[in-house]
Amino acid sequence: MTAQLAPSITQVADQCFEELTTHIENQGQLTIEQMSKMSLLLGRNWQKALQVVDQNEVECYIGESSRRHIFQVRGKSGVYITFAKTYCSCQAHYYEVVCKSEAPYCKHQLAARLALALKRCPVTVVPDTAIAQFLLDS
Ligand SMILES: [Zn+2]
Repeated sequence: MTAQLAPSITQVADQCFEELTTHIENQGQLTIEQMSKMSLLLGRNWQKALQVVDQNEVECYIGESSRRHIFQVRGKSGVYITFAKTYCSCQAHYYEVVCKSEAPYCKHQLAARLALALKRCPVTVVPDTAIAQFLLDS
Protein backbone atom coordinates (compact mmCIF):
# COMPACT_ATOMS: atom_id res chain seq x y z
CA MET A 1 0.00 0.00 0.00
CA THR A 2 1.42 3.39 -0.94
CA ALA A 3 0.87 6.46 1.14
CA GLN A 4 -0.99 9.34 -0.48
CA LEU A 5 0.75 12.64 0.03
CA ALA A 6 -1.51 15.63 0.52
CA PRO A 7 -1.13 18.14 -2.29
CA SER A 8 0.73 21.31 -1.41
CA ILE A 9 -1.05 24.65 -1.39
CA THR A 10 0.96 25.54 -4.50
CA GLN A 11 -0.37 22.48 -6.33
CA VAL A 12 -3.93 23.28 -5.27
CA ALA A 13 -3.50 26.92 -6.33
CA ASP A 14 -2.11 25.83 -9.71
CA GLN A 15 -5.06 23.47 -10.22
CA CYS A 16 -7.51 26.23 -9.33
CA PHE A 17 -5.77 28.61 -11.74
CA GLU A 18 -6.01 26.05 -14.54
CA GLU A 19 -9.74 25.64 -13.89
CA LEU A 20 -10.16 29.39 -13.67
CA THR A 21 -8.27 29.98 -16.93
CA THR A 22 -10.29 27.34 -18.76
CA HIS A 23 -13.51 28.85 -17.45
CA ILE A 24 -12.48 32.35 -18.51
CA GLU A 25 -11.58 31.08 -22.01
CA ASN A 26 -15.01 29.45 -22.32
CA GLN A 27 -17.21 31.93 -20.48
CA GLY A 28 -15.21 35.17 -20.54
CA GLN A 29 -15.44 35.82 -16.82
CA LEU A 30 -15.00 34.37 -13.34
CA THR A 31 -17.79 32.96 -11.20
CA ILE A 32 -18.53 33.99 -7.62
CA GLU A 33 -17.60 30.44 -6.55
CA GLN A 34 -14.18 30.69 -8.23
CA MET A 35 -13.54 34.08 -6.66
CA SER A 36 -14.47 32.72 -3.22
CA LYS A 37 -12.29 29.64 -3.67
CA MET A 38 -9.26 31.72 -4.69
CA SER A 39 -9.83 34.17 -1.86
CA LEU A 40 -10.05 31.36 0.69
CA LEU A 41 -6.96 29.65 -0.71
CA LEU A 42 -4.74 32.69 -1.30
CA GLY A 43 -6.07 35.23 1.22
CA ARG A 44 -4.89 38.81 1.14
CA ASN A 45 -2.48 38.24 -1.77
CA TRP A 46 -5.49 37.36 -3.95
CA GLN A 47 -7.35 40.49 -2.87
CA LYS A 48 -4.30 42.63 -3.60
CA ALA A 49 -3.82 40.90 -6.96
CA LEU A 50 -7.38 41.80 -7.94
CA GLN A 51 -6.61 45.45 -7.20
CA VAL A 52 -3.42 45.31 -9.28
CA VAL A 53 -5.33 43.84 -12.24
CA ASP A 54 -8.18 46.31 -11.79
CA GLN A 55 -5.69 49.19 -11.90
CA ASN A 56 -4.12 47.84 -15.14
CA GLU A 57 -0.66 47.54 -13.57
CA VAL A 58 0.44 44.41 -15.48
CA GLU A 59 2.31 44.17 -18.80
CA CYS A 60 3.33 40.91 -20.45
CA TYR A 61 6.35 40.35 -22.69
CA ILE A 62 6.86 37.15 -24.65
CA GLY A 63 10.26 36.05 -25.95
CA GLU A 64 10.16 35.79 -29.74
CA SER A 65 11.92 32.42 -29.96
CA SER A 66 11.64 30.99 -26.45
CA ARG A 67 7.94 31.99 -26.01
CA ARG A 68 8.93 32.65 -22.39
CA HIS A 69 6.47 34.95 -20.62
CA ILE A 70 7.80 37.66 -18.34
CA PHE A 71 5.69 40.31 -16.66
CA GLN A 72 6.30 43.84 -15.46
CA VAL A 73 3.99 44.65 -12.58
CA ARG A 74 3.81 48.16 -11.15
CA GLY A 75 3.55 48.23 -7.38
CA LYS A 76 3.58 50.88 -4.67
CA SER A 77 7.37 50.77 -4.37
CA GLY A 78 8.37 50.28 -7.96
CA VAL A 79 8.14 48.01 -10.98
CA TYR A 80 8.72 44.31 -10.43
CA ILE A 81 9.84 41.63 -12.86
CA THR A 82 7.77 38.50 -12.48
CA PHE A 83 7.67 34.99 -13.84
CA ALA A 84 4.14 33.84 -13.07
CA LYS A 85 5.08 30.60 -11.28
CA THR A 86 8.71 30.86 -10.30
CA TYR A 87 10.03 34.34 -9.51
CA CYS A 88 9.23 37.92 -8.61
CA SER A 89 11.73 40.65 -7.84
CA CYS A 90 9.65 42.02 -4.92
CA GLN A 91 10.62 41.59 -1.26
CA ALA A 92 7.36 39.81 -0.39
CA HIS A 93 8.21 37.01 -2.80
CA TYR A 94 11.61 36.61 -1.22
CA TYR A 95 10.37 36.59 2.39
CA GLU A 96 6.86 35.11 2.22
CA VAL A 97 7.28 32.66 -0.67
CA VAL A 98 10.95 31.66 -0.73
CA CYS A 99 12.17 32.02 2.87
CA LYS A 100 9.09 31.33 5.00
CA SER A 101 6.84 29.39 2.61
CA GLU A 102 3.90 31.35 4.01
CA ALA A 103 2.32 31.87 0.60
CA PRO A 104 2.56 29.97 -2.70
CA TYR A 105 2.80 33.17 -4.76
CA CYS A 106 3.13 36.92 -4.20
CA LYS A 107 0.42 39.32 -5.34
CA HIS A 108 2.38 40.26 -8.45
CA GLN A 109 2.57 36.65 -9.64
CA LEU A 110 -1.15 36.17 -9.02
CA ALA A 111 -1.95 39.44 -10.78
CA ALA A 112 0.21 38.43 -13.77
CA ARG A 113 -1.58 35.10 -14.20
CA LEU A 114 -5.03 36.61 -13.72
CA ALA A 115 -4.40 39.59 -16.01
CA LEU A 116 -3.18 37.29 -18.78
CA ALA A 117 -6.18 34.96 -18.39
CA LEU A 118 -8.59 37.91 -18.44
CA LYS A 119 -6.70 39.60 -21.30
CA ARG A 120 -6.35 42.64 -19.04
CA CYS A 121 -2.70 43.33 -19.88
CA PRO A 122 -0.91 44.44 -23.01
CA VAL A 123 1.14 41.61 -24.55
CA THR A 124 4.28 42.46 -26.52
CA VAL A 125 6.52 40.00 -28.35
CA VAL A 126 10.17 40.94 -27.91
CA PRO A 127 13.56 39.44 -28.83
CA ASP A 128 14.80 36.96 -26.24
CA THR A 129 17.71 39.28 -25.48
CA ALA A 130 15.15 41.78 -24.17
CA ILE A 131 13.83 39.14 -21.76
CA ALA A 132 17.38 38.61 -20.49
CA GLN A 133 17.82 42.37 -20.14
CA PHE A 134 14.65 42.62 -18.02
CA LEU A 135 16.20 40.11 -15.62
CA LEU A 136 19.56 41.85 -15.56
CA ASP A 137 17.88 45.17 -14.78
CA SER A 138 15.64 43.79 -12.02
ZN1 LIG B 1 5.97 40.11 -6.21
